[in-house]
Amino acid sequence: MFELPELPYAANALEPVISARTMAFHHGKHHAGYVRALNALITAPARAQMRLEEIISEAAAAKETKLLNNAAQCWNHSFFWTSMATGPAQPSSALKIAIDAAFGDIAALSERFSQAGVGHFGSGWVWLATDRSGALEVIATHDAANLLASKDMTPLLVCDLWEHAYYLDHQNSRAGFLDAWFGALPDWAFASAQFEAASSGATGWRHPPPVQ
Ligand code: MN
Repeated sequence: MFELPELPYAANALEPVISARTMAFHHGKHHAGYVRALNALITAPARAQMRLEEIISEAAAAKETKLLNNAAQCWNHSFFWTSMATGPAQPSSALKIAIDAAFGDIAALSERFSQAGVGHFGSGWVWLATDRSGALEVIATHDAANLLASKDMTPLLVCDLWEHAYYLDHQNSRAGFLDAWFGALPDWAFASAQFEAASSGATGWRHPPPVQ
């Protein structure tokens, strides 16, 4: 059984970009709903012990779309909450060098990130990710898709592009949400730790294991 992970901050901590009201629906209804659906779909006893990453991989291989979508949405939302923070932080010097090399500077990365999110048709996610060589990319994925299937890519940050992520606070302005999000909410300490993990061949962040 997977549990809905607690938010690592108060529900109003990310205001005004993400209001407590949005958080109540997004975490308390949407994310909770994915967890509930996931648990209902894990019927095989062998799967009850599996970590979420293993379930996602197995569901993808077996083309179990409903299980894959709900499991991936659980992973993506947990990563999303984890990749945001309230305090000021700067990327590590190693990550800053990689950002400058790939995009020019952080402002240019912010612009690329927003453009990728705004240009993405429909629901999905926009990621900042690194390959094993330390080369950064901005990647948008559709619906529940994430980067777990790509063994070479490690995500550093993600922003939710589903309308439920921003409609109460920013209405139809996905651009306004993404600009405000990138300016205030990325947890650069977390992103830097992910970058460091990828550079040293480590796995990086993993979803909390199932509770027996
Ligand atoms: Mn969402």
